[in-house]
Parts: sequence; structure tokens; C-alpha cells
Amino acid sequence: MESIRGVLVDVFHDLPSNSVELTKVPHMATTAGDERTVQYMLKRWQDPDTGLDRAWREEYLVYLSFPDPKTPNKVTVGELGPQGISGGYREKEKEYGPDQKDPDVVQPYAAYAPAGHPKGKLVYANQGKPSDYLHLNQTLDLNGTIAITRYGGEGRAQKAINAAPYGVIGVLVYTDPRDINDGRMSDTNETYPHSWYMPPSGVERGSFNTQYGDLLTPYLAAKDDTYRISMAKITGIPPIPTQPIGFEDAYALICELGGRPAPSEWQGAFNCTYNLGGPGFKPTSTFKESQVQLDIYNRGEIKNSSNVMGVIRGSVEPDRYVIYGNHRDSWVHGAVDPSSGTSVMLEVTRVLGRMVKEGKWRPRRSVIFGSWGAEEFGLIGSAEYTEEYYSKLSERSVAYINVDISVFGKRQKSGNISVFVLLQVKTPGSESTSVYDNWIRYFNRTSPTYGVIPNVGFLTGAGSDYAAFIHFLGITSMDISYTYDRTKTSARIYPAYHTAYDTFDYSSKFIDPGFTSHQTVARTAGNVLMRLADSLLLPFNCSDYAESLEAYLAKALELYTEGLAVHNISIEPLKSAVKTFRSAAASLDQMIRDSDLANETPLKVRGINDQLMLLDRAFLDPTAFPDQYGFRHVIWASSKASEPTFPGLADAYERAALSGLDEDWEEAHRQLSLLSQAILGAAHTLEEVI
Ligand SMILES: [Zn+2]
Repeated sequence: MESIRGVLVDVFHDLPSNSVELTKVPHMATTAGDERTVQYMLKRWQDPDTGLDRAWREEYLVYLSFPDPKTPNKVTVGELGPQGISGGYREKEKEYGPDQKDPDVVQPYAAYAPAGHPKGKLVYANQGKPSDYLHLNQTLDLNGTIAITRYGGEGRAQKAINAAPYGVIGVLVYTDPRDINDGRMSDTNETYPHSWYMPPSGVERGSFNTQYGDLLTPYLAAKDDTYRISMAKITGIPPIPTQPIGFEDAYALICELGGRPAPSEWQGAFNCTYNLGGPGFKPTSTFKESQVQLDIYNRGEIKNSSNVMGVIRGSVEPDRYVIYGNHRDSWVHGAVDPSSGTSVMLEVTRVLGRMVKEGKWRPRRSVIFGSWGAEEFGLIGSAEYTEEYYSKLSERSVAYINVDISVFGKRQKSGNISVFVLLQVKTPGSESTSVYDNWIRYFNRTSPTYGVIPNVGFLTGAGSDYAAFIHFLGITSMDISYTYDRTKTSARIYPAYHTAYDTFDYSSKFIDPGFTSHQTVARTAGNVLMRLADSLLLPFNCSDYAESLEAYLAKALELYTEGLAVHNISIEPLKSAVKTFRSAAASLDQMIRDSDLANETPLKVRGINDQLMLLDRAFLDPTAFPDQYGFRHVIWASSKASEPTFPGLADAYERAALSGLDEDWEEAHRQLSLLSQAILGAAHTLEEVI
């Protein structure tokens, strides 16, 4: 096995050519460009010399949303007529090279936002959070207004969902240069093509929904004859027309707004005071009494989306699966998102496939690869896959590895995984520093057990295709990437994210020249994959899980003990459940240490591995979050609360503390009980008999 890991360290030279091939044309889900990448993945995975045992496509009929290519969405300021903002609202991003000229570049739009033609006076609503509209509503009548918001602080769809109850009729969203460009605004020398910063006309596209998976078939795989809810029943999408625009257009609007100055935290990088809006513009502005009009022509369509699947059959335990995946679809050319991850996946499969074809290696467990479709619209391909193969995946999956955006920028490593040691893989551009050393240097924490170790985040959200695996199926998951040094830039994400500038030219010049960081991620992910697929004992540590539960518990005790006691709710059962889990984990660890597994019966090894494999499954409770599609894991579910602690309890407690309603305190009590029961239940699965 060591020699195989050696292979992983030595190769990985095809990364740039994979990336060139994957990013030749825009490949938004279900378009001709997407089909081209389907064919490419199939060709690579069916290659007789370097392919997998088998590769095939699986299709779903999914609900997507597109702008009308013949009637572009428009934003105009009343009296200026079709000329639009400052005489020129851009329907398309500025062209700096052949990539932006491609006729298949989709014009910026807010997927799932409804069509419509609202016209009203403009207000500036900061990030579109509930507190932002509350603030505006104190001094302004928001009825019939259009709100301009900046990205960040709140989900895309939520900015419009929060606005509608105040009578707001349309929402604009833009990226403030303060949040993405460290304040840089000029494309004559500061932004792409001169640097990695977003050009003034750049627009972040995105899916404006709050739920993942196909919106018409929740919990059902979207096949031809599957029952579909009516479109009118879809929730969690903008109730009012919404459009993303570039910051040059936002600048022209925001700096003309009248009314009082916005609070200091609302100010961005423009060289003017951001006012709230009168509503509307300053009397001195050329726009004066003008209203802003949105003409949105988005429409929903049910389209055929493909996953490409591939498998290497396991030699000893073929019915145990290690799954590795990434989405294939992008908004435009998607060089970073998702092709940096797909290049890595293709390189891993090329290296492993060759060894399999040459008869040099076959994993102990089966390895399944997934190239998911329609992720950008809401993690659709992966969610439909987990719905279709629910039972098999629940019973047999060891782990899921997700590598989407593999390189966000230079310098630093981040990940969300159970603890694996990455001493063998070297950091890019260095022969001596390991990924482990670099990780610990930039992102560490102090563990009561191990001292200072690399910090590993938690997969609490639904940011990529791991969501259905961890939150819906309870399969141990990881998501890794190489990222930039956040002490050197305050960009919330790499600046070309979801724009027409996320191209091979951009990524090879500004994200990872030489593709050395891609290489590091490929080696790291490949290494982890091989350990999961080949180790006799699964590389999971249940005592590390206990440490995370104890950290969550300490926070919960600090924040909630008193408040719960006032309502006669005792937090003791939670405390004792975590204690029981710790001791069950310690006994299982001890039993593993005392065993000579290589000489044990296969049944004993399989028994222990099943306990480790099923541990995350034990934390699933389908009744915990009935209103949140696909969230059943009571430890890692997403939470509105800012504190790192048990999500269901945190949300319920905060809600009850705010409302004071008896029914909300009852829900807090219910969350506490179901959480304690899940932890105790998980502890029981670590015991051998009863
Ligand atoms: Zn992605």
C-alpha cells in the first residue's frame, strides 16, 4: 500500500489539460456544453487503459429556472427609458477576451426568482437581513419600493423573502467591492484581467432557493412518472422579482440615493455616503423623482439532467462503498467552480484506474465516483441520487468525499473532515513543509487530547454536494479545498465566483499558476480515499467524536442551563448522554487497541468497522427538523444561532427566549430530549452487546 501512495505522490501531471478540456465552453446544467462534459467524463472513465471498471449515466427530470435568451432581463431608471442606469445598465458582463464573447454565456439572473415588471422608488437595504428591513421600516414606508442589497450576511433567496412582508416589490443584489475586492474598483489597472479582483460589470449568478434537491419532488427521485408538487406549492424561493447586477450599476444607483445616511456597518467601498433612500433619489440627482423598473423574464423548465457514475469494484468487501464526488455543471465556464474539483477527481481516477487496469491494485472496498448534474441550481443531481438509492447507500456507505472548488486561492489549506493525518503530502511549492504543518500553521485549535492540531470545520450547511450525504443519509463526509490567506484579503470568496470571468485564463493566472495547489489537493484527497478504501480498520476515531460533543455541550451548558431551568427544563439528560457516549467510545477504542486485528476473524473486523461506519447514521432523527428538507442529522444540521453548539437546541432556545411563548419552550424541551436520545442511542451502537 505504501508504494501505491508513492504513485499518488509522483504523478498528477494531467491537471492543467483536464481543466482546459472541462472549461472550453460554458456548461450550465442541461445545456449543450453540459452534455459535452458528460461525454468527456464517460470517455475518460471508460478508457481501456486508465478508466474505471464501469461508467454510466443516470438521468433525472428536474425543475430549473432560466432567463429568456430572446428577451433579456432589464433594470431601468424611469425617465432614462431603455437606456437604463446612467445610460447603460449592462445586460452582459464586459468582454475582456474570447471567453466572455461566447454566445452561450448566460446573462446574469437570479435562478428561481419570478418574472415580473415591478417599478418603484429605490431603498438601500444593506444585506437584506430581517434586521436590515426592520431598521428601514422604522423611518420609511417600504410599500411599493425596490430594495437594493449587497451579497453576504444572508442567503440569496432570503433577501427577497425577508423584504416581501414589508411591501417591497422587487430586489436588486450586487457585490460590494468592500466585500470582494478589498475596495478595488477600476478595470483599467486593478481588477481582472490585471488581477484576481472582480471587474465592475462582474455579476455573481446563483440559485435563489433555500432548499436543496429538485424543488418539485422532495424526497422522491425525479423520474419521468414521479409525483410532482404543483409549482405554486414551492416554498423558499423569492416571492418577488429579483435581479443581480454589477457594482458599476449599483454604484450609479446607490450614490444617487436620498434620505438619511445608512448606519456605518452598512457603508461599502463606494466613494459616497450610502443613504437609505428617500425612498428614491436625492432632489439634486439627475434621477430625481425617477423610479427603478425591473423587467424580469425568468421561467421555470423541467429538464433532463445527468449524473455520470463510475465504479471500481472492491476485492474483499465489494458491498462497502467509499464515494467520491463533485458536480460537473457551472454557471459559465466554471474553471474554479467546479472544474478545479473535477480536474482533481479525473486525475485521481486516471491514476487509480491505470493501476486497476494493469492488475497492480484493487481496493478492499468498492469506490463509487459521482459527477453530479445541476448542483448550481440546488445540489440537485446528488440529492436525487441519494433519494433513489436511499436504502443501499444508508446500509453500505463508509464515507463520502467531496472536492468541489479545490483551490480558492494560494497558500492555505482548509477542510471539514474527521481527523486524518496528512504528513506525507507536501504543501505546494515546498519540498519540506507537509500539508499537515502548513495546516497547523494557518488554521489550528487546541484539543484536550492532542494539544495543538489542524483545525477542521464542521459540515453544518448545504454549500455543496456533501449535504445530502451527511445531512440526509448520515454518511461520514468531508469537503476539502486549498484556500487563500484571509489575513491578506477580506474577499468573502474568490472574486470571479459565478461570473463570466471564472475561466481557465483566470484560474491559471491568478488562482493557481502551475496547478501546484490542485496537485496538493489531488494527493490529499487521493490519499484519504485510499485509506478509506484499503485500510483493514476504517480510519475513524469515535473518541474524537466525543471531543466534539463535549465542546458543544460545554457551550450549551454555558448558554442555556439557567434559561431552561427557569422553565423547569433540566439539561442533565444531555450532560449524562454525552458522558455515556464518551465512555462507550473509550471502551471501543480500548477494545480496538487490545485486538490484533490482522489476525482476528474477518467477522470481528467487519463488526467493528460496521460500528464505526454506522456511527453518524445513529444521529439521524427524521422528526427533528420537519420544516427543513433533507436535514436529519441532529449534531451537524445548519443553525441560525451563531454559537457552535447543538443546532436544534440552539435555534429552539433562541426562538423561545425571544418570543417567551409556552409552545416555543415546549419545542426547546422536545429538541433537548431528542438530542439526548440520539446521543445515547449513538453511544449504545458503540457497545458490543447491550
Ligand atoms: Zn461548486
